[in-house]
Amino acid sequence: MTTKPDFSFEFYPPKTDAGRESLLTTFDELNALAPKYFSVTYGAGGSTRERTLDIINLLNGRSQTQIAPHISCIGDDKVQIAELLSDYKALGIKRLVALRGDLPSGQVGMGELPFARDLVAFIREQSGDHFYIEVAAYPEMHPQARSFKEDVQNLVNKYKAGADAAITQFFFNADSYLYLRDELEKQGIDTQKQPLIAGIMPIIHATSLMRFADSCGADIPRYVRKQLADYGDDRKSIHQFGFDVVYKLCERLMAESVPALHFYSMNKTEPNRELVKALDLA
Ligand code: FAD
Repeated sequence: MTTKPDFSFEFYPPKTDAGRESLLTTFDELNALAPKYFSVTYGAGGSTRERTLDIINLLNGRSQTQIAPHISCIGDDKVQIAELLSDYKALGIKRLVALRGDLPSGQVGMGELPFARDLVAFIREQSGDHFYIEVAAYPEMHPQARSFKEDVQNLVNKYKAGADAAITQFFFNADSYLYLRDELEKQGIDTQKQPLIAGIMPIIHATSLMRFADSCGADIPRYVRKQLADYGDDRKSIHQFGFDVVYKLCERLMAESVPALHFYSMNKTEPNRELVKALDLA
């Protein structure tokens, strides 16, 4: 019998009161599925500092499910990061997603901790083992990496600096995930102990998916691109086709013993709930 993978959901902090209200409904609906945790993104350089903290506070007080803030280092100094860590400790937060981040346009200066590896080491220095730390991984290579090999080495360095696990950028080609997992094993990372969690992007809006994929260097297979383009504004067909693509991807990953699936929820209940139910994860 294969064990069911853990699953979690990612939110971004909404900009409006209406978005905040609707996120609470989504949270309650997805929380009813009993995920392992929810994570909340953070705008690099502190651009969503207040909004991320607000949502973390709100969700943390709403249920027993763990809430994991994302925290980034680019453009921030150590004092600001240490303050954020102590705010999170005071709230009882035990899990973080540690990233370099991308600077908002116009902002310059890498800050005192230029890479995620430096941030992981800083968090360990400041907080010991208090936080379970997850970092980012790129099955299809980070767009700024000089080579695939150096990018894998960067991930290995993040694990060695103290990361407990890594969550991948989204991908639609299961082989890219499996290849990266094998490469990590070859580099001495025991992925049973320091897992590689698959980041899963449900297909909701074709155009925003394409835009997002282009900006983060994720590949959308031609058969997916072409069919999404053919459907135009036919949201029902996009939904059905997108569901099938993502369901099959998760099924394949589960057959390959993926330890956990992290859904980039886009702050929506569906199709995340539908996928979790169909995959019998709840
Ligand atoms: P790093 O691991 O530091 O790597 C960044 C780049 O630098 C890579 O190309 C790496 O190969 C290269 N590199 C590393 N070390 C060196 C070195 N010493 N010399 C030269 N090159 C080096 N962004 C946000 O702003 N907020 C979020 O909340 C957020 N959440 C995310 C969640 C997940 C699961 C993922 C996968 C990404 C997320 N991102 C987020 C995006 C992320 O911040 C960007 O992809 C960013 O460009 C890189 O972050 P990183 O932590 O992977 O950086």
